[in-house]
Amino acid sequence: MSVFGFVALGYEGELVRVEVDVRPGIPGMEIVGLPSGAVREARERIRIAWKNTGFKFPQERTLVNLSPADLPKTGAGFDLPMALALLEATGQVPTVPSYLALGELALDGSLRRVAGILPALAKASELGIKRALLPSACQEEAEALSGIEFISAPNLSELVENLKSQCWRTTRGMGVLERRRLDVDAQLGNWRTRPGLNEVLAVAAAGGHSVLLYGPPGGGKTVAARNLRVLTPPLEPDEAWEVARLKSLRGEENHYYPEVPFREPHHAANLAGLVGGGRSWEPGEASLAHRGILFLDEAPQFAPSFLQTLREPLEDGWLRLARAGRQVSYPARFQLVMTANACPCGQAGRTKGVCLCGAQTIRRYWDRLGGALIDRVDIRIFLNAEAESAPLDLQEMKKTLVRLENALERRRSRKSQEKNAWRDWREVLDSTPLLTSQKNLWKETLHREDWSSRGGVSLIRMARTLADLDDRDQIRDEDLLRAISFRKPAGEQYWQN
Ligand SMILES: [Zn+2]
Repeated sequence: MSVFGFVALGYEGELVRVEVDVRPGIPGMEIVGLPSGAVREARERIRIAWKNTGFKFPQERTLVNLSPADLPKTGAGFDLPMALALLEATGQVPTVPSYLALGELALDGSLRRVAGILPALAKASELGIKRALLPSACQEEAEALSGIEFISAPNLSELVENLKSQCWRTTRGMGVLERRRLDVDAQLGNWRTRPGLNEVLAVAAAGGHSVLLYGPPGGGKTVAARNLRVLTPPLEPDEAWEVARLKSLRGEENHYYPEVPFREPHHAANLAGLVGGGRSWEPGEASLAHRGILFLDEAPQFAPSFLQTLREPLEDGWLRLARAGRQVSYPARFQLVMTANACPCGQAGRTKGVCLCGAQTIRRYWDRLGGALIDRVDIRIFLNAEAESAPLDLQEMKKTLVRLENALERRRSRKSQEKNAWRDWREVLDSTPLLTSQKNLWKETLHREDWSSRGGVSLIRMARTLADLDDRDQIRDEDLLRAISFRKPAGEQYWQN
């Protein structure tokens, strides 16, 4: 027999074999194999839970070994596998071939839900272990996978009864289901927007391009950023699976049909909450925004150390964390959406109104974001508080939705299913090369604006998205020109001072 627990190490994780040795000696229970405080405390929880449920605790020397020994074990999820391994070693439950067990034991013997059920079951299944014992509260989550034989119960006594009578059931394998687009009429019906703004947001939504909305307060930056979520196409099944898995690791309620993630952390949140880590190595907001939107309202208020951490995932879609000599990674392929006032007092960029901040102060303010981060932002939109706004034209919006469908269909028909913002730009150009005149326009622009090669790549990707929205194979001059205007907004570019 073998009982396995699970320890998450970033997005992946490992199975942990729970071995029990009971031999004559002074009564006591020792746990070895790098248990964390929470795992060591399991000893007390198991002892009392057993007493309260009528099982006999061994009156001998008991050793619990968690193998592999060099892997730190964290969390209360080891309560159940340790309790079951002990019951088996003392002959109180029948021996079952290899199975996975996860769950926290309360003092009255009831079983609580723990984080990480989906990755644990996926890993076990990958290694050929297709049996699991779980708290009832985890059953719904387990049903996402198919072909897992499981026994679940709300408490330890019932779980053991079900195990004795071999009440195995098999998961249905609901998978993760595709969600429909949010109801645009209901969500955007009251939106007072600017001419052309939702068209730019549609480009951002279709290609997953990162966005900076800036300008004086009252220009509708925050509302525009939140509305981007409504335009964003629903997750594809593979993406939904990744999102469900991350939510499982964080212990958030899981569903078979996750919505497009939209994470809006507060600037005062701690770094572990934002990027991940902490005691049990949970994913942070940046990873939970994977395949969705990471929205930083008033971005310069966030700690520069956090903002600079985002550069790496914006490059390759992964967040790497180093703690205690180990490195763990989480996927973090998010669309960064930021808002910022033009200056600390908020008056800069107003037609009427006087900003008293001074050039130095404005510079320091924008330095918090940093040129390197802004360089990774494809679309910069200046919103002037005094410019006219009008209710969203729902007829226009319907046309925009058709264009978004075009882009989605084109994406689905490609070999690489990534959004344009994440595509290899050489692959983009291989499939539809630029004309010589377009190449010249592109090169001249980079030279004139002193844009980095990253800026050049961003132009190609945005131009591709514009062509996709129109359902065209060929990138046209106008696509390139519009891409340039997205990167170089009409308002002053304060970060270049
Ligand atoms: Zn000011």
